[in-house]
Amino acid sequence: MPGHEPTTIELDSLPLEPGNPLIFEREIWLPPIHLAGQDYVFAPDVVPAIVKVTDVVRGYTVGIAFSCRLEGACWRCLEPADLDLDVKVEDFFEAELPPVAELGEEDEVTLWYEEDGVLNLSDWARDAVVEFLPPKILCRPECKGLCPQCGGNRNEVECGCEPPADFRWDKLKEWKPE
Ligand SMILES: [Zn+2]
Ligand SMILES: [Zn+2]
Repeated sequence: MPGHEPTTIELDSLPLEPGNPLIFEREIWLPPIHLAGQDYVFAPDVVPAIVKVTDVVRGYTVGIAFSCRLEGACWRCLEPADLDLDVKVEDFFEAELPPVAELGEEDEVTLWYEEDGVLNLSDWARDAVVEFLPPKILCRPECKGLCPQCGGNRNEVECGCEPPADFRWDKLKEWKPE
């Protein structure tokens, strides 16, 4: 990804007063998302976000809110699809991280977005977007997808292929109530 460094903030160098949230705007670069074998990109891939940082005991509560548009292939017909999302996420980040060797499986993944007091906003924001995605990314809600027989796009052509016979139905047809 040439020309793009992750957007980061140095939590311990912010002018924070304990318990008093600091709210500011920051442009965040959103890296592409790999989903269901396809790459989804943000357009634009740099978005303005509202960042809220609060110095709390033993760490920071950080919230980000932004709007973004994700573009990629429709899961049914593979034609371009896009999705507008409003994303809002808040998490707690420890000021002093325990040594990696002491981390257990139950430790929050949020720890991995932070290293030496530097928070990787890009990775965190990208992963937050994933939580906001619908179950399927579609070009339109009623997308008919590709024909499993001829591969034609059923939104554009009526190919007329018959669905394959399902032997289970034959069994049911033979069944007669007493
Ligand atoms: Zn589609
Ligand atoms: Zn067909």
